[in-house]
Amino acid sequence: AREGYIQKTKTVCTYCGVGCSFDIWTKGRHILKVEPQYGAANGISTCVKGKFGWDYVNSEDRLTSPLIREGNHFREVGWDEALDYVARRMTDIRAQYGANALSFIASSKCTNEEAFLVQKMARQVIGTNNVDNCSRYCQSPATVGLVRTVGYGGDSGTIKDLEQADLIIGIGTNTAESHPVLATRLKRAQKLGRQKIIMVDLREHEMARRADLFLQPKPASDFIWLSAVSRYILDNGLAAEEFLAEHTIGLDEYRASLEGYTLEYAAEATGWSVETLRDLAEMIAAHERVCIMWAMGVTQQCGGSETSTAISNLLLVTGNYARPGTGAYPLRGHNNVQGTSDMGAMPDQVSGYQKVADPEVRARFEAEWGTPISPERGLDNSQMVDAAIDGRLKAMWLTGEEMSLTDADVNHLIKGYEALELFVVQDLYFTNTARYADVILPATPSLEKEGTFTSTERRIQRLYAAMDPLPGTMPDWQIYQEVARRMGFEWNYSYPGDIMDEVARLSPMFAGVSYSRLQGYDTLCWPVAADGTDTPLLYTEGFNFADGKARLYPAEYVGRSDAPAAEYDLHLNSGRMLEHFHEGNMTFRVPGITAKTPDAFVEISPELAAERGVDTGDWVRVVSKNGALRLRALVTERVSGGELYIPMNSRDLEGSVNLLTGQNRDTVTNTPAYKDTAVRLEVL
Ligand code: SF4
Repeated sequence: AREGYIQKTKTVCTYCGVGCSFDIWTKGRHILKVEPQYGAANGISTCVKGKFGWDYVNSEDRLTSPLIREGNHFREVGWDEALDYVARRMTDIRAQYGANALSFIASSKCTNEEAFLVQKMARQVIGTNNVDNCSRYCQSPATVGLVRTVGYGGDSGTIKDLEQADLIIGIGTNTAESHPVLATRLKRAQKLGRQKIIMVDLREHEMARRADLFLQPKPASDFIWLSAVSRYILDNGLAAEEFLAEHTIGLDEYRASLEGYTLEYAAEATGWSVETLRDLAEMIAAHERVCIMWAMGVTQQCGGSETSTAISNLLLVTGNYARPGTGAYPLRGHNNVQGTSDMGAMPDQVSGYQKVADPEVRARFEAEWGTPISPERGLDNSQMVDAAIDGRLKAMWLTGEEMSLTDADVNHLIKGYEALELFVVQDLYFTNTARYADVILPATPSLEKEGTFTSTERRIQRLYAAMDPLPGTMPDWQIYQEVARRMGFEWNYSYPGDIMDEVARLSPMFAGVSYSRLQGYDTLCWPVAADGTDTPLLYTEGFNFADGKARLYPAEYVGRSDAPAAEYDLHLNSGRMLEHFHEGNMTFRVPGITAKTPDAFVEISPELAAERGVDTGDWVRVVSKNGALRLRALVTERVSGGELYIPMNSRDLEGSVNLLTGQNRDTVTNTPAYKDTAVRLEVL
């Protein structure tokens, strides 16, 4: 960026997985305007965050010097001292305890190239598979459900397919607030009469109010109604018989697994009538193009993986894959949560979803990197904290994740931080998590670096540097490179495009991805063949299994482990607010947004408020088995009965909903079951 000149730079929004692209006009470090016009996902649209949410880049809170802990204080140090320190301490810990005493968490706010280097740091430089990312907190269960049934874990089509569907079913997704531009496109299709929308949710949010049919189930009953609807469709000759015969295997076992799932049973479990369930099943079967989108309301449960599997089974039973306007859409929350997993920041897979257990995969990476790759699965985020507490894990390098606010059971988490011998936090700010660090490394936001993000559509897009890194900070990829060099590895990437070339060489799924094919507004949806052919709609050539056939997978119901009872008589739900991104680390540093949403609050239904004598604005305490939180009450019809809802966005630990959440987890992925928390309400 040339000081004094006005510059127009193409970037990608850093605030959600929709992947809006736009030009951002700057003069030096001043952001003049955001101008959307050519974005593949958004055209001329953005939401409030994409348009006005950029002041965090120039926040006075930005860290501008590395910090090293000395007792209860931090000392400002130069970059050389900080990088030498990290390299030396990691070397010592590995020598004393072994490679598996170290761990790494990549950031889904960072670029693909940076995620690739985090897992390369873990595997090549250190020799461990202890690497993960924040999809462990959100959509890992959806990936399991899709990999089991259709082979790829990503959205099966694009937002255009969602728009083209005759029927959209949204389950546990507050789409208008969490994926605003995507929701706008659906609302437009609905308004033009091209589409019907069914929303299934505990909470009557904006999309629920706009839906053609809104259904409020009892908590943790989605698996049951999905299975009952599938069974009804199969039993009543409404299934896509030809599709099932030609493109799937496992129908008999799947049918057997549905035996107990009658409409009557589902009616009891959900609280809906048998007629409602029958109408729902017939409505789904009657539409030609059906998409199901889902989010944390499904996945942040003990049975998140099983319910995600049930969703995909229903789509298979009705033949809703591999055609425009059909498919499965687990909506990705972070701007690059899709890409962070794609790049191999996972404990069992390297880039392109290649398993470390596969000798052929390891051989390819070992030949490129010159070091052995461990075949053993590493620790995931949740296991890392457990391992720190029980003494197996000694070091963690956490990038761009305000884990203290986003992981469940904050008090457990803090015990983990305090047990570590080395805790490196790399971030823009002195976060709540950084309080527990031994070293803090000041990184750069997306406007100050180049790279790529991958949106919920599996769409890879370039972002360019709109301004220079703030003096004293360093782009994340350069930080990793500097530490790797200090530990004896010849990393010589001159810019992020070199890293993407390595990804393409090592990962068949990204074979044709290169910066020359991603110039400006050009995009690629993975998988991308070596000749550059991309795949906006998956499975048109068969499902991602050797025989090309999808698997009907007999999933199993997993119930709640913290259902309301006795002392803790209410159910706690949590989620995003429109104005905020994730925990709020960035958006709370945007004055306009903070002014609009200054404090955390708890939503209480009118009936519960009347019963307990609570008015909007009253102070209340919400108490779970794990902790307590003092908040103001907001009485609203968005919630009903004994449901409480607290936004996940919080400025500090004291307001974090995760003081209340606990250790119950999805049984397959260890994703915290945030939505499975019983609480009581105390009126102050
Ligand atoms: Fe688009 Fe999401 Fe950014 Fe809003 S937050 S502009 S919907 S990418």
